[in-house]
Amino acid sequence: NTETKAELIRKEEALTFYQPREKYSNKGHFGHALIIGGSYGKIGAVTLASKATLASGAGLVTAYIPKCGYQVIQSAFPEAMVLTDVDEKMITNIELNFEPTAIGIGVGLGTEEKTIKAFETFLKSNKSPLVVDADGLNILSKKKALIKLLPEGTILTPHPKELERLIGVWKDDFDKLKKVKTYSKKHQVIVVIKGANTITVLEDKLYINTTGNPGLATGGTGDVLTGIITGLLAQGYNPLVSAIFGVYLHGKSADIAVEKTGYQSLFASHVVEFLGDAYLDLF
Ligand code: AMP
Ligand code: MG
Repeated sequence: NTETKAELIRKEEALTFYQPREKYSNKGHFGHALIIGGSYGKIGAVTLASKATLASGAGLVTAYIPKCGYQVIQSAFPEAMVLTDVDEKMITNIELNFEPTAIGIGVGLGTEEKTIKAFETFLKSNKSPLVVDADGLNILSKKKALIKLLPEGTILTPHPKELERLIGVWKDDFDKLKKVKTYSKKHQVIVVIKGANTITVLEDKLYINTTGNPGLATGGTGDVLTGIITGLLAQGYNPLVSAIFGVYLHGKSADIAVEKTGYQSLFASHVVEFLGDAYLDLF
């Protein structure tokens, strides 16, 4: 297909995205991000995503979770602020007391009817730039009409199963890309096709990532990616750059981490821990 433009994202390209910090900057310059997600037994997903949001450079992060996660997240991650749902075990009503600079929604969220309703109501009033992941994507697959409520430039970050639920089965990789390009154009969204060679798609443009390794094939790494991208959005990177720079940094952090952990013992937490080294490696 001659219309398709594909670009490799290596260190050289990543460096062009990087925004240095001014000496006199303060946290207000880097946005107040919000991570919405979690359900009973899946508070870790929000903890990881919120940590990654702050580690990527957001000024402030708030986590919106069901009540059962309150003590957990406050202890595990004191840098985060927390808002809780009225429900103990799941999100049923998303009520905010501030306007977030960027929002990541879906990690550990669950797909209970009440949660789907809350997600829909939230989308109807939301004005913030958005990253949708995990059960947020599964809800969009269950209730296709909700896709129309996403702001233009929303970033979707499906793994293969979530992508299949969104766009249906594909015949081969070529067919998959064609379907994703059509989907991106139709709904005006950016799709991050996660996998060994993550490809970010915006309409007919493809951005092929060059970092990352099989150590990432472990629970929670996707939640970390959601946090990183949300954090970049909050800092003022545009949605496309947030997606491709976020994917690059996530993979690079894992590449640095495996030097110490090995492939088998890499945890999603390590990807947060080494994110600073991924930034430093740009220079
Ligand atoms: P999730 O399945 O949502 O937890 O996301 C997994 C994350 O790990 C995504 O960012 C994938 O791109 C990445 N990942 C999974 N397996 C591999 C692999 N074999 N090589 C490189 N990255 C991977
Ligand atoms: Mg995931």
